Amino acid sequence: MTTIILDAGHGPNTPGKRTPDGKLREFQFNSVVASLVGERLIREGVTIRYAHESSRDVPLHERTAIANRLRADAYVSIHANAHGNGWSKAQGIETYIYPQASKSASVLANYVQKALITACQRTDRGVKKADFAVLRDTHMPAILAECGFMSHRTEATLLQSKAYQLQCARALTFGILCWIYNK
Ligand SMILES: [Zn+2]
Repeated sequence: MTTIILDAGHGPNTPGKRTPDGKLREFQFNSVVASLVGERLIREGVTIRYAHESSRDVPLHERTAIANRLRADAYVSIHANAHGNGWSKAQGIETYIYPQASKSASVLANYVQKALITACQRTDRGVKKADFAVLRDTHMPAILAECGFMSHRTEATLLQSKAYQLQCARALTFGILCWIYNK
C-alpha cells in the first residue's frame, strides 16, 4: 500500500499569495488541484493524506510532521509561482527537490515535471534544487511543483481556469503513478 501526502501550499488567507489583480489566491489553485489529484490517486488504490486544511495556513513543521508520522511514501507540494510584486514576464513550470535529495525524489520530480510540461505546454523551467522546509524536513521523497506564474498575465488566467487546473491535476497524477509503478 502506497501513501502519498498531498500539500496544497499556504492557506486560504495567507497574505501576498495571489495574482497582482487579486482575482486568484494561490491556495484556491493549490487546493483545487490537490483535491483533483487526491480523487484520482484514490481510484488507483493509493492512500492519500492532505497536509493542508481549508480553514487555516497549517505551519510547515506540522505539515512535515504529519508526513513523517504516517511514514508516507512520498510528499507532493502543489504551488503556483510568482515573480516580483506586479505583473512580470517570468513564466513556465518548475519542480523542486532538496539539494541533497535521494535518487528516488529526483526520479519523482522528473516524472512530474515531464508530465506537467507535456500536458500544459508551458515553458519548461526544469527540475531545480532549493532548501524549502517541506523538502528538507520530510523523511521521504519530497517534491514541490510550481504549476505556472500568478504574476504572468497569460498564466494567471490559465491558473484560474477549470481546464488548466484539471490538466495540472492529470499530469501530477500521471507523474506520481509512474513513480509508484517504477519504484
Ligand atoms: Zn506557493
